[in-house]
Amino acid sequence: MAKLPWHNELTAALAERKAAGRYRQNRLRIGEQGVHIQLGDKTILSFCSNDYLGLAAHPAIKQAFKQAVDKEGVGSGAAHLLTGHSFYHQALEEKLADFTGQQRVLLFSTGYMANLGVIDGLLTRGDAVIQDKWNHASLLDGGRLTDADQLRYPHADMSLLHKRLHNAATAKHRLIVSDGLFSMDGDIAPLPEIMALSEQHRAAVLIDDAHGFGVIGEGGRGTVSHYQIAADKAPIVVGTLGKAIGTGGAFVAADELVIETLIQQARSYVYTTAQPPAIAAATLVSLDLVEKEQWRRDQLQQLIQQFRQGAEQLGLELMPSMTPIQPVIIGDDKKALEIGARLEEQGILVGVIRPPTVPKNTARLRITFSAAHTEQDVDRLLVALEQAYAH
Ligand code: PMP
Repeated sequence: MAKLPWHNELTAALAERKAAGRYRQNRLRIGEQGVHIQLGDKTILSFCSNDYLGLAAHPAIKQAFKQAVDKEGVGSGAAHLLTGHSFYHQALEEKLADFTGQQRVLLFSTGYMANLGVIDGLLTRGDAVIQDKWNHASLLDGGRLTDADQLRYPHADMSLLHKRLHNAATAKHRLIVSDGLFSMDGDIAPLPEIMALSEQHRAAVLIDDAHGFGVIGEGGRGTVSHYQIAADKAPIVVGTLGKAIGTGGAFVAADELVIETLIQQARSYVYTTAQPPAIAAATLVSLDLVEKEQWRRDQLQQLIQQFRQGAEQLGLELMPSMTPIQPVIIGDDKKALEIGARLEEQGILVGVIRPPTVPKNTARLRITFSAAHTEQDVDRLLVALEQAYAH
């Protein structure tokens, strides 16, 4: 292609990013998602996928996908509102409504788009969206997309949420937005307190349960179920299907009025192609497994406890997380990168997360567990951590 007129500026920006150790690069995985994966020419024990229940390559889910492709082809061919809404999409929306106990569910092609759509679709000029500072980028981007005012409160700080709601008292409508299970710390949002404040200030609440759905709560029903909040008192929930559920796409669960409004107004729903129907068919099977196979969540809890006990004995700095996201705080960016590299030399892959994704001086290893890990895998991780620290 022709050189961009600002070619030199981009070259300098990329070089600067590289020098700061913030250059992003894909790594080529060959073969299935799982705990033992092939990256390039190496086989590695992975602790950095979101396939929390080990379902991404489950034979029954693969089979459902293949059968649906034989019946309906691959592409959905159009947006839901044209001819893209298939039998499988409809069945999945109904099943998810049943599963979440909400009146109605609307499918989106990705979680990113669901978050943009639900915030943009429900708010307009004169309204206010009030977000936890550590919310996922797609929620923050949803706030930027609307004409509503966007306010933020420090992570999980309820007294400052109260203050922000007070500041937004003159806004026409208020929407509080929070991740359910935070992806960098592994903690669960204080939803009962958020709901109490929302009542006090006549605000609505939206929870992004990308990491909680399938993992916590009764039968994997997520953050709302974890706190035993009744369906008729529940917030609007976004759930994603590409993590614990092992397939792809996302949904919004809410009442009839909210869903009908999103169908009319959420641009990321209206102006995009529906996900391939076979993904919905595979998700229908996955949801059955998620609900019935409690052993997957029990296995996760055992692995988490085993890891935490071992890591504490090694004197590692953990966060108070009882979820499959277990950060180990290192502090210094370079040291975190070094320890990550030493683990990789030993055939173990973890996420190395640095500012600005997390606060300054809290660079960390982000270790995520899957029900497909074994006790021996966790032992191997602990031994490798001990060696990487001792270096
Ligand atoms: N919300 C959160 C909290 C996430 O972690 C992610 C994915 N990283 C998303 C939304 C976006 O979901 P998707 O990958 O389906 O676009």
